[in-house]
Amino acid sequence: MKRKGILVVVSGFSGAGKGTLMKQLVRTYDTYALSVSMTTRAPRPGETDGREYFFVSQEVFEQKIRENGLVEYACYCGNYYGTPREYVERQLLAGKDVILEIEIQGARKVKEMFPSALLLFVTPPGIKELHRRLAGRGTETEAVIRERLGRAQAEAEGIETYDYLVVNDDLQACVEQMHRLIQDAHCAPKRNQEFIEMLRTQLTELCAHADGQGQVSH
Ligand code: ADP
Ligand code: 5GP
Repeated sequence: MKRKGILVVVSGFSGAGKGTLMKQLVRTYDTYALSVSMTTRAPRPGETDGREYFFVSQEVFEQKIRENGLVEYACYCGNYYGTPREYVERQLLAGKDVILEIEIQGARKVKEMFPSALLLFVTPPGIKELHRRLAGRGTETEAVIRERLGRAQAEAEGIETYDYLVVNDDLQACVEQMHRLIQDAHCAPKRNQEFIEMLRTQLTELCAHADGQGQVSH
Protein backbone atom coordinates (compact mmCIF):
# COMPACT_ATOMS: atom_id res chain seq x y z
CA MET A 1 0.00 0.00 0.00
CA LYS A 2 1.45 3.35 -1.04
CA ARG A 3 1.77 5.60 1.98
CA LYS A 4 -0.09 8.88 1.60
CA GLY A 5 1.27 12.11 2.97
CA ILE A 6 -0.69 14.04 5.56
CA LEU A 7 -1.03 17.76 6.05
CA VAL A 8 0.42 18.94 9.34
CA VAL A 9 -0.40 22.41 10.60
CA VAL A 10 1.97 23.88 13.17
CA SER A 11 0.92 27.07 14.95
CA GLY A 12 2.03 28.85 18.08
CA PHE A 13 2.75 32.24 19.57
CA SER A 14 5.34 34.33 17.80
CA GLY A 15 8.68 33.44 19.41
CA ALA A 16 7.56 29.99 20.62
CA GLY A 17 10.24 28.41 18.41
CA LYS A 18 8.18 27.10 15.47
CA GLY A 19 10.66 28.10 12.79
CA THR A 20 13.61 26.66 14.72
CA LEU A 21 11.74 23.40 15.41
CA MET A 22 10.60 22.91 11.82
CA LYS A 23 14.07 23.49 10.40
CA GLN A 24 15.42 20.86 12.80
CA LEU A 25 12.59 18.41 12.00
CA VAL A 26 13.14 18.50 8.23
CA ARG A 27 16.92 18.33 8.74
CA THR A 28 16.53 15.17 10.87
CA TYR A 29 13.88 13.26 8.87
CA ASP A 30 13.43 13.08 5.11
CA THR A 31 9.70 12.23 5.12
CA TYR A 32 8.74 15.86 5.60
CA ALA A 33 8.26 18.70 3.15
CA LEU A 34 8.16 22.17 4.68
CA SER A 35 5.89 24.54 2.79
CA VAL A 36 7.41 27.98 2.16
CA SER A 37 4.77 30.66 2.56
CA MET A 38 4.34 33.87 0.66
CA THR A 39 4.30 37.11 2.66
CA THR A 40 4.20 40.86 2.24
CA ARG A 41 6.28 41.45 5.40
CA ALA A 42 9.86 42.62 5.01
CA PRO A 43 12.64 40.02 5.37
CA ARG A 44 14.43 39.92 8.75
CA PRO A 45 18.22 40.03 8.74
CA GLY A 46 19.42 36.56 7.74
CA GLU A 47 16.21 35.58 5.95
CA THR A 48 16.50 34.60 2.28
CA ASP A 49 13.81 34.89 -0.38
CA GLY A 50 12.52 31.39 -1.22
CA ARG A 51 13.93 29.83 1.97
CA GLU A 52 12.03 31.31 4.95
CA TYR A 53 9.39 32.98 2.74
CA PHE A 54 8.68 34.21 -0.74
CA PHE A 55 8.78 37.94 -0.03
CA VAL A 56 6.40 39.75 -2.39
CA SER A 57 4.56 43.04 -2.78
CA GLN A 58 0.90 43.42 -1.89
CA GLU A 59 0.03 43.55 -5.63
CA VAL A 60 1.74 40.21 -6.32
CA PHE A 61 0.08 38.65 -3.25
CA GLU A 62 -3.38 39.82 -4.29
CA GLN A 63 -2.81 38.52 -7.82
CA LYS A 64 -1.95 35.11 -6.33
CA ILE A 65 -5.23 35.17 -4.37
CA ARG A 66 -7.19 35.96 -7.55
CA GLU A 67 -5.50 33.07 -9.39
CA ASN A 68 -6.59 30.67 -6.59
CA GLY A 69 -2.90 29.97 -6.12
CA LEU A 70 -3.08 29.82 -2.31
CA VAL A 71 -4.44 26.99 -0.15
CA GLU A 72 -5.21 29.60 2.53
CA TYR A 73 -4.10 33.07 3.52
CA ALA A 74 -4.53 35.47 6.41
CA CYS A 75 -3.59 38.91 7.60
CA TYR A 76 -1.30 38.96 10.65
CA CYS A 77 -0.10 42.17 12.33
CA GLY A 78 -0.65 44.20 9.14
CA ASN A 79 0.83 41.79 6.59
CA TYR A 80 -0.50 39.06 4.32
CA TYR A 81 0.74 35.48 4.72
CA GLY A 82 -0.38 32.56 2.52
CA THR A 83 0.39 28.97 1.53
CA PRO A 84 1.18 28.37 -2.17
CA ARG A 85 -1.06 25.58 -3.46
CA GLU A 86 1.11 23.92 -6.10
CA TYR A 87 3.93 22.78 -3.78
CA VAL A 88 1.54 21.36 -1.19
CA GLU A 89 -0.42 19.29 -3.71
CA ARG A 90 2.73 17.97 -5.42
CA GLN A 91 4.40 16.90 -2.16
CA LEU A 92 1.28 15.20 -0.78
CA LEU A 93 1.00 13.19 -4.01
CA ALA A 94 4.66 12.21 -3.63
CA GLY A 95 3.82 10.75 -0.19
CA LYS A 96 5.49 13.45 1.91
CA ASP A 97 3.99 14.78 5.12
CA VAL A 98 3.61 18.47 4.35
CA ILE A 99 4.16 20.95 7.15
CA LEU A 100 2.39 24.30 7.16
CA GLU A 101 3.74 26.66 9.78
CA ILE A 102 0.81 29.07 9.88
CA GLU A 103 -1.28 31.12 12.31
CA ILE A 104 -4.66 30.19 13.72
CA GLN A 105 -7.03 31.69 11.09
CA GLY A 106 -5.18 29.75 8.40
CA ALA A 107 -5.20 26.62 10.58
CA ARG A 108 -8.99 26.81 10.84
CA LYS A 109 -9.37 27.15 7.06
CA VAL A 110 -7.09 24.16 6.46
CA LYS A 111 -9.09 22.07 8.94
CA GLU A 112 -12.32 22.94 7.08
CA MET A 113 -10.88 22.06 3.68
CA PHE A 114 -8.83 19.03 4.80
CA PRO A 115 -10.59 17.41 7.79
CA SER A 116 -7.82 14.82 8.10
CA ALA A 117 -5.11 17.45 8.61
CA LEU A 118 -3.21 17.14 11.92
CA LEU A 119 -3.09 20.37 13.95
CA LEU A 120 -0.27 20.96 16.44
CA PHE A 121 0.08 23.98 18.70
CA VAL A 122 3.56 24.83 20.01
CA THR A 123 4.03 26.79 23.22
CA PRO A 124 7.05 27.81 25.25
CA PRO A 125 7.20 26.50 28.85
CA GLY A 126 5.88 29.88 30.09
CA ILE A 127 5.17 33.43 28.99
CA LYS A 128 8.29 34.94 30.63
CA GLU A 129 10.33 32.59 28.47
CA LEU A 130 8.26 33.61 25.41
CA HIS A 131 9.14 37.25 26.00
CA ARG A 132 12.78 36.32 26.57
CA ARG A 133 12.88 34.39 23.26
CA LEU A 134 11.10 37.13 21.30
CA ALA A 135 13.38 39.83 22.67
CA GLY A 136 16.44 37.57 22.40
CA ARG A 137 15.78 36.96 18.70
CA GLY A 138 16.55 40.65 18.27
CA THR A 139 14.62 41.00 15.02
CA GLU A 140 11.65 43.08 16.16
CA THR A 141 11.27 46.42 17.91
CA GLU A 142 9.69 46.52 21.38
CA ALA A 143 6.50 47.93 19.76
CA VAL A 144 6.27 44.99 17.34
CA ILE A 145 6.96 42.56 20.20
CA ARG A 146 4.08 44.10 22.14
CA GLU A 147 1.79 43.78 19.11
CA ARG A 148 2.76 40.11 18.73
CA LEU A 149 2.15 39.42 22.43
CA GLY A 150 -1.30 40.99 22.02
CA ARG A 151 -1.92 38.66 19.11
CA ALA A 152 -0.73 35.73 21.27
CA GLN A 153 -3.44 36.59 23.78
CA ALA A 154 -6.10 36.16 21.08
CA GLU A 155 -4.45 32.98 19.78
CA ALA A 156 -4.40 31.47 23.28
CA GLU A 157 -8.20 31.48 23.19
CA GLY A 158 -8.17 29.12 20.18
CA ILE A 159 -5.75 26.46 21.41
CA GLU A 160 -8.53 23.89 21.85
CA THR A 161 -9.00 23.93 18.03
CA TYR A 162 -5.80 21.88 17.81
CA ASP A 163 -5.28 18.13 18.11
CA TYR A 164 -2.16 18.36 20.31
CA LEU A 165 -0.31 20.86 22.43
CA VAL A 166 3.49 20.60 22.24
CA VAL A 167 5.68 22.36 24.80
CA ASN A 168 8.98 23.52 23.31
CA ASP A 169 11.31 23.40 26.31
CA ASP A 170 14.21 21.21 25.21
CA LEU A 171 14.42 21.72 21.42
CA GLN A 172 15.55 18.22 20.42
CA ALA A 173 13.04 16.50 22.74
CA CYS A 174 10.31 18.62 21.18
CA VAL A 175 11.39 17.67 17.64
CA GLU A 176 11.22 13.98 18.59
CA GLN A 177 7.80 14.40 20.17
CA MET A 178 6.42 16.14 17.07
CA HIS A 179 7.86 13.41 14.85
CA ARG A 180 6.17 10.72 17.00
CA LEU A 181 2.82 12.51 16.98
CA ILE A 182 2.88 12.87 13.20
CA GLN A 183 3.91 9.25 12.63
CA ASP A 184 1.24 7.98 15.04
CA ALA A 185 -1.37 10.12 13.26
CA HIS A 186 -0.82 7.96 10.15
CA CYS A 187 -2.51 5.08 12.04
CA ALA A 188 -5.81 6.89 12.64
CA PRO A 189 -8.73 5.18 10.82
CA LYS A 190 -9.81 8.52 9.30
CA ARG A 191 -6.44 8.71 7.51
CA ASN A 192 -6.72 5.14 6.18
CA GLN A 193 -10.21 5.15 4.72
CA GLU A 194 -9.18 3.61 1.38
CA PHE A 195 -7.38 0.72 3.09
CA ILE A 196 -10.38 0.09 5.36
CA GLU A 197 -12.72 0.04 2.33
CA MET A 198 -10.40 -2.43 0.59
CA LEU A 199 -10.52 -4.77 3.62
CA ARG A 200 -14.32 -4.55 3.68
CA THR A 201 -14.62 -5.32 -0.04
CA GLN A 202 -12.28 -8.30 0.26
CA LEU A 203 -14.22 -9.62 3.27
CA THR A 204 -17.51 -9.32 1.38
CA GLU A 205 -16.02 -11.18 -1.59
CA LEU A 206 -14.54 -13.94 0.57
CA CYS A 207 -17.76 -14.48 2.53
CA ALA A 208 -19.85 -14.58 -0.66
CA HIS A 209 -17.44 -17.14 -2.13
CA ALA A 210 -17.49 -19.28 1.03
CA ASP A 211 -21.33 -19.20 1.15
CA GLY A 212 -21.47 -20.21 -2.52
CA GLN A 213 -19.36 -23.28 -1.73
CA GLY A 214 -21.72 -24.31 1.06
CA GLN A 215 -19.19 -23.71 3.76
CA VAL A 216 -20.34 -22.71 7.20
CA SER A 217 -20.10 -18.94 7.63
CA HIS A 218 -19.40 -17.65 11.11
P1 ADP B 1 8.80 31.42 15.94
O1 ADP B 1 9.12 30.85 14.58
O2 ADP B 1 7.81 30.59 16.69
O3 ADP B 1 8.42 32.87 15.92
P2 ADP B 1 11.69 31.16 16.38
O4 ADP B 1 11.94 29.78 15.84
O5 ADP B 1 12.14 32.32 15.59
O6 ADP B 1 10.16 31.32 16.81
O7 ADP B 1 12.37 31.18 17.84
C1 ADP B 1 12.37 32.37 18.63
C2 ADP B 1 13.69 32.42 19.41
O8 ADP B 1 13.68 31.41 20.40
C3 ADP B 1 14.92 32.19 18.54
O9 ADP B 1 15.94 33.08 18.94
C4 ADP B 1 15.28 30.74 18.81
O10 ADP B 1 16.66 30.51 18.67
C5 ADP B 1 14.84 30.57 20.27
N1 ADP B 1 14.41 29.19 20.61
C6 ADP B 1 13.65 28.35 19.87
N2 ADP B 1 13.45 27.18 20.53
C7 ADP B 1 14.10 27.29 21.70
C8 ADP B 1 14.26 26.39 22.83
N3 ADP B 1 13.72 25.17 22.87
N4 ADP B 1 15.00 26.83 23.88
C9 ADP B 1 15.55 28.08 23.86
N5 ADP B 1 15.43 28.97 22.84
C10 ADP B 1 14.70 28.58 21.77
P1 5GP C 1 6.51 35.72 11.18
O1 5GP C 1 6.33 37.13 10.70
O2 5GP C 1 6.92 35.66 12.64
O3 5GP C 1 7.42 34.92 10.29
O4 5GP C 1 5.09 35.01 11.08
C1 5GP C 1 3.97 35.59 11.69
C2 5GP C 1 2.85 34.59 11.78
O5 5GP C 1 2.39 34.24 10.47
C3 5GP C 1 3.26 33.27 12.44
O6 5GP C 1 2.23 32.89 13.36
C4 5GP C 1 3.33 32.29 11.30
O7 5GP C 1 3.02 30.96 11.70
C5 5GP C 1 2.23 32.83 10.40
N1 5GP C 1 2.34 32.40 9.00
C6 5GP C 1 3.44 32.17 8.27
N2 5GP C 1 3.13 31.76 7.04
C7 5GP C 1 1.78 31.70 6.98
C8 5GP C 1 0.83 31.32 5.96
O8 5GP C 1 1.18 30.93 4.85
N3 5GP C 1 -0.47 31.41 6.28
C9 5GP C 1 -0.92 31.83 7.50
N4 5GP C 1 -2.23 31.85 7.70
N5 5GP C 1 -0.07 32.19 8.47
C10 5GP C 1 1.26 32.12 8.22
